[in-house]
Amino acid sequence: MASFLQTKIEFLKGVGPVKAKLLEEELLIVTVEDLLNYFPFRYENRSHFSQIKDLEDNDGYVQIKGVIVGIGLKGESKKQRLSAQFADQTGEIELLWFKGVNWMIKKLKAGVPYVVYGKPVLFNGKFSISHPEIEIITPGNEQKGDDYLPVYPTTEKLKRRYIDSKALSKLVKSVLQHPSYRVDEIVDSHILQNNRLIGYQSALSWIHFPHSQDQLQQALLRLKFNELFFIQLKIFQEKVERQEKHRGIVFKKSHLVNEFYTKHKPFELTDAQKRVVKEIYTDLQSGYQMNRLMQGDVGSGKTITAFICMLIAISNGYQTSIMAPTEILATQHYHGLAEFSEKLGLKTALITGSTKKSLKKKNLDALKNGELDIIVGTHALIEDNVEFQNLGLVVIDEQHRFGVAQRAKLWQKSQHHYPHVLVMTATPIPRTLAMTLYGDLEISTIDQLPQGRKPIKTTQLTDANRSKLFGFIRRQIEEGRQVYIVYPLIEESETLAYKDLMDGYESISRAFPHEAISILHGKMKAADKEYEMKRFLKCETKIMVATTVIEVGVNVPNASVMVIENAERFGLSQLHQLRGRVGRGADQSYCILMSGPKLSKEARERIKCMVETTDGFKIAEKDLEIRGPGDLLGTQQSGLLDLKIADITQDSHILKLTRELARQILASDPELSSTEHSLIKKQLFSQKRHLLWSNIS
Ligand code: ADP
Ligand code: MG
Repeated sequence: MASFLQTKIEFLKGVGPVKAKLLEEELLIVTVEDLLNYFPFRYENRSHFSQIKDLEDNDGYVQIKGVIVGIGLKGESKKQRLSAQFADQTGEIELLWFKGVNWMIKKLKAGVPYVVYGKPVLFNGKFSISHPEIEIITPGNEQKGDDYLPVYPTTEKLKRRYIDSKALSKLVKSVLQHPSYRVDEIVDSHILQNNRLIGYQSALSWIHFPHSQDQLQQALLRLKFNELFFIQLKIFQEKVERQEKHRGIVFKKSHLVNEFYTKHKPFELTDAQKRVVKEIYTDLQSGYQMNRLMQGDVGSGKTITAFICMLIAISNGYQTSIMAPTEILATQHYHGLAEFSEKLGLKTALITGSTKKSLKKKNLDALKNGELDIIVGTHALIEDNVEFQNLGLVVIDEQHRFGVAQRAKLWQKSQHHYPHVLVMTATPIPRTLAMTLYGDLEISTIDQLPQGRKPIKTTQLTDANRSKLFGFIRRQIEEGRQVYIVYPLIEESETLAYKDLMDGYESISRAFPHEAISILHGKMKAADKEYEMKRFLKCETKIMVATTVIEVGVNVPNASVMVIENAERFGLSQLHQLRGRVGRGADQSYCILMSGPKLSKEARERIKCMVETTDGFKIAEKDLEIRGPGDLLGTQQSGLLDLKIADITQDSHILKLTRELARQILASDPELSSTEHSLIKKQLFSQKRHLLWSNIS
């Protein structure tokens, strides 16, 4: 009966209120259903006992039967550890505890036979096991155990209350054997058959107690299916709801676009840019509120594409805003857009954290009165005192740099209606990830670079080749080019990063005594940053030494060399972003990755990938493979994707399957009101998890 699943675990045999409370606090397990959905994170093979004489280093986990022959404390009082000598007929090893020493010392008894399970490590010719699992031999565990003993994650607090992995496994078993235990199937049998999925009830039994690898795999497949299926359902459902709730403003006119296009455009748009403008214009006329992601590799020309879309909104008498993550980038956008908008007779202003109070007030008033057509800014745009008269389109550049809440705040700034939303990213999101993350977001891709761009040549150099590097830089400067030299920002130690940067600046000043050199880092005042940026942009300085503040968006087409110091410290997407600062003009550009001689495997892989390709999508796929999805989106959004068992890098086929299924089901039965879908509806309703990532409207 379904109600058994909803029973509070407190009422299970051997649990009671105290343990139930702990389980709730530590593992969020409240009901029997929660318990069943608390899966093992690995399985141990307990079908074999090892002998101490046969132990080998790096052999993994072993199970040994033996006796404790001596117990003692070692080390100073603060770092005291508990050491027990453990022997079988063939030899002796040491068992060690660094934590919970006082508790363990009371528990362990010499002369008593135990079963020990753990990972032996060879040190000074002797094996030891740290924090082994240890249990007095009873008739129950003396025999060979299971091939697949489930191991559940627990916490120290629970263990102290005797709720260890074993206790959890016993509890789960008792549930599975309970006379009232029954799990309803939620998916049609023909869907199961067509996709070779096992029943939900079997999957739940086998994930906890598989008898073979095959059973385990079958169970995993079915449970991953469930997890992704409900996420996709939820995403589609929200999309339908959003379209119903938020009617979009209809933008019919586009005369400013025509004027710009015929009289003022600085270059011909690429086919990809034209296509994306069309896609967006279709949205803007559809009557639905647009929620679109424009992705395009660095340098693909997203800014001008967005500007044209802003002109559509302004043609219809609405205001627009564009928000960028850094002051440098916002300022650059402002100057870029102001040039065009002036020609069209439009009013544009900039608001950042360092805009002077009086000017800010003036701009804010103009914005509220409707005098301004375009407002460009940083996070300062989401402050409460920023009010619009009629905001029609919100553009967010480098959207992955903003948190979900920050973005939401901006598009709630319109009183009468939700504005259309266009978010842009140069960190291409692999398709699988985009489907999970942004199921309700339409995606436009600028998959073409402006004509005449040559792929950037990338090489790796070690520190030993510095003179070669300087020689190369010198020749490029002689040819009239400009150079970036970027140092990593070390989060743990800003002082250290600053020192690296300053040391670098000095050594470069010495190598290029006749060059004026720009420097840019996060600690500088905004006005100083802008001054340095301008000097570099005007080609008054040929070398820009900087931290990653220049990572996003900065556009100096004459720069042709990007040197990245300590390249091994950067993530792939960051390296790609940095490299994208060059290759923005017609000249051959270069990226030089400097690194120490010794690199970790991952760092080597990253650098290799950068040398081999300039394709942002390939790099993003590789990044996903190396780092996993959580990291890919940066700390702002990590955690949103903490899928319980599915892994979108591995399980994209299941993702596709569930997505299609969810789409079909909701297309035929949007309210899930048919009896056939009643269980799906119920399950969807009871899903506790908030699907934050789809809260984009
Ligand atoms: P991103 O997509 O990385 O934001 P930008 O919008 O900064 O790229 O554009 C990069 C550079 O390419 C800018 O100098 C811009 O003026 C130029 N650009 C954009 N579109 C075209 C085009 N169709 N033809 C030539 N140059 C272009
Ligand atoms: Mg950009």
